[in-house]
Amino acid sequence: MLCPQCDLMVELPQLSQGKKAVCPRCHTTLTARWVEPALQPVCFAISALIMMVFANLFPFINMRVSGIYSQIRLIEIPQVMVGDDYASLATLFVIFVQLVPAFCMLAIILLGLKVKLPYRLQVVMGRIVYLAKVWCMVEIFLVGVLVSFVKLMAYGDIGVGPSFIPYCLFCLLQVRAFQCMDRYWFWQNIQPAPKLERELRIGESGLAQGLRSCPCCMATLPADMHRCPRCFTTGYARRKNSLQWTLALLITSVMLYIPANLLPIMVTEVLGNPEPSNIMSGVILLWKDGSYPVSMVIFIASIMVPSLKILAIGWLCYDASEMGQKSGYLDRHRMHFIYEIVEFVGRWSMIDVFVIGVLSALVRIGRLMSVYPAVGAILFAMVVILTMIAAMMFDPRLLWDRTKPVSTNQ
Ligand SMILES: [Zn+2]
Ligand SMILES: [Zn+2]
Repeated sequence: MLCPQCDLMVELPQLSQGKKAVCPRCHTTLTARWVEPALQPVCFAISALIMMVFANLFPFINMRVSGIYSQIRLIEIPQVMVGDDYASLATLFVIFVQLVPAFCMLAIILLGLKVKLPYRLQVVMGRIVYLAKVWCMVEIFLVGVLVSFVKLMAYGDIGVGPSFIPYCLFCLLQVRAFQCMDRYWFWQNIQPAPKLERELRIGESGLAQGLRSCPCCMATLPADMHRCPRCFTTGYARRKNSLQWTLALLITSVMLYIPANLLPIMVTEVLGNPEPSNIMSGVILLWKDGSYPVSMVIFIASIMVPSLKILAIGWLCYDASEMGQKSGYLDRHRMHFIYEIVEFVGRWSMIDVFVIGVLSALVRIGRLMSVYPAVGAILFAMVVILTMIAAMMFDPRLLWDRTKPVSTNQ
C-alpha cells in the first residue's frame, strides 16, 4: 500500500494479532490487527451509545450560591444559548458533542455488524465516520466542564449530578471505539480494494510510479483515475490547490483571531453589574485567584496553541512551496513531526468555548449572578474551526516530495 502521509510504497507483512504496521519513513501507523476487529469497536460503540442516553436523561451538574440552587441537564445547555440569541454556539455544541459522536457510534455498529444495507449507504457512512472523527469533541467538552468547576468554586458549591459518571464513561468508550477501529481493515471489510494490474515498486513514492492513495479508503489507484471505485471519493495524486486553500483559510483565521482576542468572550453579571471579559483577562483572573494549573490550561489551549498553530501552518506552507524548496533542505522528519502536532492539538482550543457554554447555562441566578456569552466566543470558535480545516487541507505528502532518493554516488 501507499503511505497516506508520505506517499511511500510499503509492503505490508502478514500481521499477527495485536501487532501494527508502521511506515518505515514517516512512522505513521498504517494498519493494526486488533483482536476481533469488527466486534470490539461494535461493543464499545453500543456501550458508548447507552451511556450517552443516560448522560442526557438526568441532571448533569448543579450549583448552590447563597442558598439558591440551580442544576442543568446536558440537553439544556444548547437551549439556554438559543435563548440568549447565540444559536450559532448552541449549534456547535449540539453538532460536536452530541450529533456527530452519536452518528459515528451508530455507523460503527451498523458497518461492524455487516447489517445488510445498500452499498451506497455503507460507503456514505464509512466516509462520514472517517471525516467526522476529528469533529467528535466529547472529551474536550469534559475538560471544559472541569475547568468551569474550578472557575465557579470561588462563587459557590459545585456538585455533579447522576449523569456525570455516565458522561465520563461515554467519553472513554467512544474514544476507545475509534481507537480500535482500523481504517484499512474497516474498508477492506466493506469491500476489498480494487486490484491493480501492474508491478509495484516497493520503497519508491507513488508519484514516481504514477499511483495515488485514495484519501478516504487508502486504496492504491492509478494517478489518472480521479474517482475511487471503492468509496467514490474524488482525488488527485496531490490534493489540488492544497497550499492555496490552506493559506486562504489561514489568512481568514488570522483576521478573525485579532478581534477574537480583543472583544469580550463572555459577560459576568454580579448584582446587576455587567462585567465583560476577554480570553486574556479570564486567564489573569484565574491566576490571581490562585488556580494556577487551570489558568495555565486555558492559557495554553486558548492563546498559545492557536497562535503557534497559525505560525506552524504558515511555516509548513512555506516549506512545501517552491520558495521553501529553494531555501535549502530541512529535516523532513522534523517538518512531519510539526505537521502531526498541528493535526493533533488543534481541536483542544475549543475548551474555552465549551467553558462559556457550561457557565452561561449553569450560572443563571437572576440579578445575583448570571453569565452570558459574548461575540468574541463565536469569533474564537471560528478561528479554531478554520485552522482545523486549514490543517486538513494541507497535503503532508508535499513535505516528502523533495526527499532525494538514496543515491550511492555520494
Ligand atoms: Zn509514510
Ligand atoms: Zn477510496
